[in-house]
Amino acid sequence: MTPDLLEDGAQRIQRSQNRHGVAQTQSGDREASYGRVRQNHDLDLIHGRILYLDDVSVSFDGFKAINQLTLDIAPGELRCIIGPNGAGKTTMMDIITGKTRPDSGQVYFGSTIDLLRYNETEIAQWGIGRKFQKPTVFENLSVFENLDLALKTHKGVGASIRFRMQPEQLTRLEEVAHTISLQDHLRRPAGLLSHGQKQWLEIGMLLMQDPKLLLLDEPVAGMTDHETDRTAELFLNLKGKHSLMVVEHDMGFVQKIADLVTVLCDGAVLAQGSFAQVQSNERVIEVYLGR
Ligand code: ADP
Ligand code: MG
Repeated sequence: MTPDLLEDGAQRIQRSQNRHGVAQTQSGDREASYGRVRQNHDLDLIHGRILYLDDVSVSFDGFKAINQLTLDIAPGELRCIIGPNGAGKTTMMDIITGKTRPDSGQVYFGSTIDLLRYNETEIAQWGIGRKFQKPTVFENLSVFENLDLALKTHKGVGASIRFRMQPEQLTRLEEVAHTISLQDHLRRPAGLLSHGQKQWLEIGMLLMQDPKLLLLDEPVAGMTDHETDRTAELFLNLKGKHSLMVVEHDMGFVQKIADLVTVLCDGAVLAQGSFAQVQSNERVIEVYLGR
């Protein structure tokens, strides 16, 4: 990659912002899930878990969306969460990321970070990245610019244009582009990517922040079979380096990637175990998988 491409990127971000006021996204509410991850803190993993929810409940108009939920995730683990619509999967992610406050219970990141004390931006800065269901990449910016912007979002728009990329950041961007199989598409406008590639790009934007924990809500929905297979490889490659919590309905995909599967139903854990264990669990078959 040449310095020329870098300069070009900054100018195009500026042009795009001049035209539209701000860089455009599909959903507009992504800011909160980005932010610079604090690199100078070591997460206390002394209890062998990176995320811990204890007896968490939240009600909406008297309806218990999350009902005394207790769940933990080990460092480097790839956890799949399955369960019927309305089980509370997305609400659980809303609670972890600070978008929804629970009525009761505890949520810890490592042993010492009480996530309920922090807002969405601060939680992202602690190293929790979230991917929403729909891809929300900047359609009129290139793949390179999207990744670049993800790195600099915390600096604000003006600062990000003036800010010149350091060589190690360029290396990091190239590594991430490779990880998400978009290394040959860096100059392409994100709007021209396939649905699956847009999803990968958004995951790449999260990876630019080097999150410790990634929350992914239905990442392969709408993907082709080939894209789904590539995504399985991507997640298997990410596990160990990051902890992942993946909500998915695609059981073939879950079977390929999961260490441990947690089945949520009515806002609580119905079953947990290996894919084979939950697949043969009578209650899980009844409420979710069918016969
Ligand atoms: P899932 O992701 O497992 O399909 P959700 O977490 O989206 O389930 O929803 C769980 C339940 O909580 C649903 O009945 C949903 O309608 C309700 N719910 C979720 N968020 C809100 C909200 N902000 N206000 C009111 N009800 C909500
Ligand atoms: Mg959901």
